[in-house]
Amino acid sequence: MTPLERALRQRIGAEGPITVEAYMEACNSYYYATRDPLGARGDFTTAPEISQMFGEMVGACLADSWKRGGEPSDAIYAELGPGRGTLASDGLRILRSAGFGGEVHLVETSPVLRDLQQKALPGAHWHENIEELPARPLLLVANELLDALPIRQHVAGIERRVRVAAGGLAFDRDGDIAETSPARDEAVAAIATCLAAKGGIALFIDYGHERSAPGDTLQAMRGHRFAPILDKPGEQDLTAHVDFEAVARSASDAGAAVTPLVPQGQWLLRLGIEARAQALSRANPERVHEIEAAVHRLTSSVEMGTLFKVLGLHSRDWPAPAGFQ
Ligand code: SAH
Repeated sequence: MTPLERALRQRIGAEGPITVEAYMEACNSYYYATRDPLGARGDFTTAPEISQMFGEMVGACLADSWKRGGEPSDAIYAELGPGRGTLASDGLRILRSAGFGGEVHLVETSPVLRDLQQKALPGAHWHENIEELPARPLLLVANELLDALPIRQHVAGIERRVRVAAGGLAFDRDGDIAETSPARDEAVAAIATCLAAKGGIALFIDYGHERSAPGDTLQAMRGHRFAPILDKPGEQDLTAHVDFEAVARSASDAGAAVTPLVPQGQWLLRLGIEARAQALSRANPERVHEIEAAVHRLTSSVEMGTLFKVLGLHSRDWPAPAGFQ
């Protein structure tokens, strides 16, 4: 039995069955606080860990918006759930070369990942939650953060819960599932409110769907494989598909402008990942195959290109970011 499972059994014994939302929250807090989950020896690999080109395209998009937004000198680079800090390092290289001199603010709950981020991004500022971000123009990105925020599941209008069963944990009911994520809606609304008040743009990159639809999308990943959700609590990554329709609605209700949702592959191609790959290959001829493979993995519709999507939010006073039209 995992240490978290022991704690959850005690909690359920005292409180009764806990909601899927509370279960996901408890599992992911424990999971991220106790490890670096990324890479071949971890549980999953993310786009910035595949190639520097991913962060560079994000940096190019943010730099372009910052320039067209009037180059405000008080703007900050902000990131939610920065993992190892790879996306930020690659993106900031491009932003700095475009003349951006602003501060770096990272929202990260995991002490283990904060340590790694500190090494990659000396001089950055860390925050426990979005509300702590300074009220300044934002150049913000969040890659695979929204999918980790807890969801609620309902069966026939009744919230689904996790109970103790013989030999493990079990759901208290099954049937047709509808999902919502107040935590995700609140996170997006907080960013959108800041954009509306102070200016800036935000890029949310994740796997998910364009229209709200019923269905069970909760999944667990361990060692790069799907695993049963209630197995090994706290030792595997729990995620749910992002309902981008709900995300777009919270953002626009909070006063931000919202771009169309575009597939990651299309967005990266529009931002010029192929030209970047050619330049990198010319400078590093021994890496041509690796660079080509990375472009394929990031953009092809049989890889991450279609499953992952990009949604841009921006202040109504700033032009729309590049790559969405
Ligand atoms: N963006 C990185 C890492 C994705 S994994 C990449 O693309 O490689 C999810 C990240 O979100 C981790 O850094 C994790 O610690 C962080 N995270 C998870 N839940 C969070 C929360 N509630 N608030 C802030 N960060 C969170």
